[in-house]
Amino acid sequence: MLSTMQDVPLTVTRILQHGMTIHGTSQITTWTGEAEPQRRTFAEVGRRATQLANALRDELGIDGDQRVATLMWNNAEHVEAYFAIPSMGAVLHTLNLRLPAEQLVWIVNHAADRAVIVNGSLLPLLAPLLPHLPTVEHVVVAGPGDRSLLTGTDARVHEYEDLIAGRPTTYDWPELDERSAAAMCYTSGTTGDPKGVVYSHRSIYLHSMQVNMAESMGLTDRDTSLVVVPQFHVNAWGLPHATFMTGISMLMPDRFLQPAPLAEMIERERPSHAAAVPTIWQGLLAEVTANPRDLSSMKQVTIGGAACPPSLMEAYDKLGVRLCHAWGMTETSPLGTMAHPPAGLSAEEEWPYRVTQGRFPAGVEARLVGPGGERLPWDGESAGELEVRGAWIAGAYYGGAGGEELRPADKFSEDGWLKTGDVGVISPDGYLTLTDRAKDVIKSGGEWISSVELENALMAHPEVAEAAVVAVPDDKWGERPLATVVLREGATADYAVLRAFLAERIARWQLPERWALVPAVPKTSVGKFDKKVIRRQYADGELD
Ligand code: ADP
Repeated sequence: MLSTMQDVPLTVTRILQHGMTIHGTSQITTWTGEAEPQRRTFAEVGRRATQLANALRDELGIDGDQRVATLMWNNAEHVEAYFAIPSMGAVLHTLNLRLPAEQLVWIVNHAADRAVIVNGSLLPLLAPLLPHLPTVEHVVVAGPGDRSLLTGTDARVHEYEDLIAGRPTTYDWPELDERSAAAMCYTSGTTGDPKGVVYSHRSIYLHSMQVNMAESMGLTDRDTSLVVVPQFHVNAWGLPHATFMTGISMLMPDRFLQPAPLAEMIERERPSHAAAVPTIWQGLLAEVTANPRDLSSMKQVTIGGAACPPSLMEAYDKLGVRLCHAWGMTETSPLGTMAHPPAGLSAEEEWPYRVTQGRFPAGVEARLVGPGGERLPWDGESAGELEVRGAWIAGAYYGGAGGEELRPADKFSEDGWLKTGDVGVISPDGYLTLTDRAKDVIKSGGEWISSVELENALMAHPEVAEAAVVAVPDDKWGERPLATVVLREGATADYAVLRAFLAERIARWQLPERWALVPAVPKTSVGKFDKKVIRRQYADGELD
């Protein structure tokens, strides 16, 4: 028997219409580096998004499910693009502005983007690529920047503000299939070519509802979220969509992502929430330690994308800012888990839960799989690869125009679950603790050493600013850990001191014999430790 309920499609269009009316007075504040930031209400952003859709259709001729890329910082115009493009039935393709040029070219060509909306400050990045992007017929430039860089390009160049000015503020939005593509994002391709994840209207809608649940970020229209995580990094973890659903105001840093302006934004604009990867929070901590600032407005911070060192969480606890650990991937939209402890515990009892990656929401099913493909119990001890499935989890990668979807066997199980490549344990009450990425575990003499455990232990030393541990080849053991350490200014600790510190916390056989003091840990395009680079530096003899 079928239900008697209405079958109304779950679409980004609906989120836009809701946000710009019911939450029309909520705000997007974009940092400009000037005395005053730019302020726009959701109503204005919604109207401008509608004008943009009209312009894309009538002036650029964007039609059907054509791809429109953005090469932009987090700002109000980027949010306008987030809503205009999917609502008209086209596909938003966010480009990661920190990728190497060859990868960007590969990605734009693979997605066959017809237009690129670009921030003027990023023209030095885009302009040299354009001759290699034959599908890009239009470039739309928003915000300050040197337009002369586009002289001689074959693409038609438009000014964002001129393009939308005077256009209708209504649009006869198409009735879209909720399963159709709304947005796409390529993983950064640590191995092989980048892979395109294509989000549907439905997956974005359901994911946004989850982001807004109290067991996830749980914000309301009384909150302002400082969205540091880039809009090109898994849709800024779903915040631009989730905020339009519940009227959460957004504070957007644009290109001002350095610790000092971030600290200033927090003090002046007083956001109640923020979201970013651990390296941002490490940087901010160093900044506010040197130049104290008032961070007291932030009730909750979502930290994820890489393991949050417990020492970092502790340091922010002391500042009265509670970091809440979350795990996810481009393939999971990204919300997978969040580490809210169960109710009724004291602060001390909460701690072991807070340092896990967190619990799965109802929409994400999880299983742990052992090396032989066997299912492992949730006993907090059996370590295996995490596999997940759910309505906002990828089931395949984009195969390119006319190409078949890609379902590589190392990423998808035969029964359709996503193989995350993350290794960990799950406790009987459903809390996930990741010990490593499968490709980063150190296989020493048949035993596994967790690089994350060593890093967390090292970063607990007061003189250590950052530490990244990687596997390096070893004649006797197969692999052994190499610890690369960034010391704080004025620190005096040496390897012997650090090794002794580790020895109190870590089994002796796991202690690294190889050490390197480095000025900074190399980072990936989204600010995570880039272990590939460290391994290469070691192989090239640069870390001896
Ligand atoms: P990339 O592969 O380019 O880093 P993603 O942002 O999709 O792109 O990265 C997802 C991966 O990041 C996860 O598979 C996991 O290894 C890691 N990750 C994300 N959140 C956490 C976390 N809280 N703790 C540990 N690792 C994390």
